[in-house]
Amino acid sequence: VTYPRAVDRLLDVLLPGDCAGCSRPGPVVCPACHGLLAGRPRPAWPRPAPIGLPPPHAVADYDGPVRAMVIGYKEHGLACLAAPLSLALAAAVRHGLAAGCAGPRPIRLVAMPSSRAARRRRGDDVVARLARRAAGRLRRAGIDARAVRALTLLRPVADSAGLSADARRRNLHGAIGVRAAARTGLRAGSTVVIVDDVITTGATLAEAARALRAAGIEPVAAATVAATARRHPQ
Ligand SMILES: [Zn+2]
Repeated sequence: VTYPRAVDRLLDVLLPGDCAGCSRPGPVVCPACHGLLAGRPRPAWPRPAPIGLPPPHAVADYDGPVRAMVIGYKEHGLACLAAPLSLALAAAVRHGLAAGCAGPRPIRLVAMPSSRAARRRRGDDVVARLARRAAGRLRRAGIDARAVRALTLLRPVADSAGLSADARRRNLHGAIGVRAAARTGLRAGSTVVIVDDVITTGATLAEAARALRAAGIEPVAAATVAATARRHPQ
């Protein structure tokens, strides 16, 4: 059936939008795509894993609809995706805590820092916002959890794609710092989990862990919504 253009435009107005994951007409996240974010968390070690990376945990594979949802949230301002994405992040955090024997101490989610340019472009620190949403979910599940803005980017970081593991570590070394205001609180008996949207090589998460350790804070795990499937035939 072909409609005249005017009818086509009318249908665009009357019908709901497309799923942010798979683009099928319907709700902003269709049940199938929501299911991808509500899956079982798992260890998400990159291969090779950078030295010092705390045990990483993720829920989804970073491709297809999950990739589209993460990009939609981060780069296209689809704030409504914070709810399903934080569901996955909270599950990954819980998985990390279970694996790391966290004990009864309060949980502090430390989000990976974004550059000033990224914050300006996106109008917000979208990863920090995701961390706050995930902490809220954990609190509603009876866990003493809070997101703490502890990390800061000390200098711009060059794109590390194509670099060797050693070159990547040199590229990132000293790029992340720990805010003085956050140090005491994090040292005083809390369990720290580093959180981000996606783990790829794990290099920036390892640098964040290095910065925290240099400040006397030992992160027990890293948790992300999704992980890229990296296969390095060696
Ligand atoms: Zn969908």
